Amino acid sequence: MASLKTISKLSARRQGRPAPELIFGDLWTYDPAPETADPKLKARYELFINGRFTAPKSGRYFNSINPANERKLAEIAVAGPADVEAAYRAAQKAFDTTWGKMPGAERAKYLFRIARLLQDRAREFAVAETMDGGKPIKESRDFDVPMAAAHFFYHAGWADKLDYVAPGRRIAPLGVVGQVIPWNFPLLMCAWKLAPALAMGNCVVLKPAETTSITALKLAEIIQDADLPPGVVNIVTGAGETGAAVMGHPIPAKVAFTGSTEVGKIIMRSLAGTDKKMTMELGGKAANIIFDDAPLDQAVEGIINGIFFNQGHVCCAGSRLLVHEPVADRVIAKLKQRMKVLRVGDPLDKNTDIGAINSKEQLARITALVKSGVKEGAGLFQPACTLPAKGWYFPPTIFTGVSMSHRIAREEIFGPVLSILTFRTPEEAVEKANNTAYGLSAGVWTDKGSRILKMSTELKAGVVWANTYNKFDPTSPFGGYKESGFGREGGRQGLLDYCRLL
Ligand code: NAD
Repeated sequence: MASLKTISKLSARRQGRPAPELIFGDLWTYDPAPETADPKLKARYELFINGRFTAPKSGRYFNSINPANERKLAEIAVAGPADVEAAYRAAQKAFDTTWGKMPGAERAKYLFRIARLLQDRAREFAVAETMDGGKPIKESRDFDVPMAAAHFFYHAGWADKLDYVAPGRRIAPLGVVGQVIPWNFPLLMCAWKLAPALAMGNCVVLKPAETTSITALKLAEIIQDADLPPGVVNIVTGAGETGAAVMGHPIPAKVAFTGSTEVGKIIMRSLAGTDKKMTMELGGKAANIIFDDAPLDQAVEGIINGIFFNQGHVCCAGSRLLVHEPVADRVIAKLKQRMKVLRVGDPLDKNTDIGAINSKEQLARITALVKSGVKEGAGLFQPACTLPAKGWYFPPTIFTGVSMSHRIAREEIFGPVLSILTFRTPEEAVEKANNTAYGLSAGVWTDKGSRILKMSTELKAGVVWANTYNKFDPTSPFGGYKESGFGREGGRQGLLDYCRLL
């Protein structure tokens, strides 16, 4: 059978054109395929307090920027202390008068409604998410939005079965909870936080990240359409100061934070000595461990997915690759070949694999860490690729010859950058994988089931994926060890974090 290259040469000859010299990547050049659904953005987004969109008492707004082209998308309100106060008062009232007293089976109906309305507007939400955050449309369309709806469906299913969350014990909601989330999965993190809290009967004040507030506020529209009683969910926007006001307010019985370890520690310090419950979902520096008996092509796909998915803006990104020495050269060669056909560019193009970096600041952070890798002597590889002239982009990057003392092996990069280390024995792999302050996730690639079981008990990580990576499900609890935080989100364990045992 003729290869694509031969066919292309033959057709060129027939048409009297010179035969093209093809390189591997050229075989797969597609025409642009921009997503066309209308994201239905407003020019200005207000705060969502007590069931209504409300102008901020602070009178201040900031711009939300599309990281793919640096254009302004919308104005977002800044919630000051008086707005946060109003949001908490509304949440407390809703808890005392409606939501806290409502039977679980009734609450379930609202959660089902939110899930269905989200499905109805899935395309619109996916486009808005991609424009606001920079992630490729195929990810927001095929992962973020469906997974967010799945979380509401799953927790709707629990709401009338809460007696089974802690068999033999009676449970009660906590009351009002405060939640602050990051920019890497803006809508999905809203679902992770809101769905279990609401299913349990709590009322919420939530703050999205300042660079990605839009889908949280679009979700507020759905919450209105679902007729959720006013005050059950309140969404306040703004940066760190607003976040500190949400976390530090006296009303919430619990605060749930997802973000960097640095900010998590500030919040924990500020709440030390109070009786508030806390969940902390913080940073990570996961190791993907490839043994010599692993299915290497599958493993390479897993590594690519683990670090380049969502531009590496993933807390559980497989940002360290530990590869067994006998197969290290083969794995690295395959990885480089695969990286050459990754497309970096317009996140709204359905062919794009790696979209825009979420903000200028994040791009500067990634660039600085990559420079440190070069300076400390690691070997850098980036495939040839042309980045768009406008917007914030970073090419897929790997470092070989990395040692545990390099900054790129220790610090969370939160970008499409992979550090490759090698190991000779399973013990060395475990030691290197665990030699980090973090403990969120890990991956093991091997043909041996017994080795998977042994490694998964020895790796100090909240999630260990085996022969796959970055797989999520609302039924699976997710969370960290060590400086990656504590508490779980998802599954029965996630619900337990939103109730009191009586
Ligand atoms: P970040 O800590 O800078 O910000 C997170 C949120 O906290 C934002 O909404 C921000 O406005 C707010 N904030 C900032 N200062 C605050 C303060 N003093 N008090 C209260 N809130 C404050 O993190 P980021 O850069 O937005 O997100 C990336 C980080 O999130 C990475 O470290 C990543 O690993 C982590 N993350 C963890 C998980 C997980 O499940 N473990 C999931 C996603 C992201």
